[in-house]
Amino acid sequence: MEISADKVVLIHYTLKDDAGDVIDSSAGGEPLAYIQGHGNLVSGLEKALEGKQGGSSVAVSVVPEEGYGKYDQALIQRVPKRSLQGSGEVKKGMQFQARTPDGIRLFTVTGVMGDMVTLDGNHPLADKTLHFDVQVVSVREATTEELEHGHVHGVGGHHH
Ligand code: ZN
Repeated sequence: MEISADKVVLIHYTLKDDAGDVIDSSAGGEPLAYIQGHGNLVSGLEKALEGKQGGSSVAVSVVPEEGYGKYDQALIQRVPKRSLQGSGEVKKGMQFQARTPDGIRLFTVTGVMGDMVTLDGNHPLADKTLHFDVQVVSVREATTEELEHGHVHGVGGHHH
């Protein structure tokens, strides 16, 4: 079966940066399960996997525009510490979810100065070209329930 919209795909992957350093990998663990065509993966990787068969290997370099985006200065905000309610002491590196006009976005604290906190809403991998080595483990039809939930149940997916 080949990968197309609404198929459940299990992959093993290794993600490297331009320097060849491993950023993320499923090696040694469960494969990653996702539903093709639902934006579960960055668009450049979904595109590269479209039409591939179970058992095939895919090496692809994904540009930032089809990965985690270009770095956007507009996503850097300075807010009063008190606006981050219920979070206790605010430290560099902490992450908060915040509502933006584009939906929920994860912000990372990049600086604390007095009562002001600097938040960066860029993805940590923004501006990076992503080098993926992917092994397609299996491809199957999604169940109706999986399509309704928008995620995979069972091996590599959610268990509920
Ligand atoms: Zn579910």
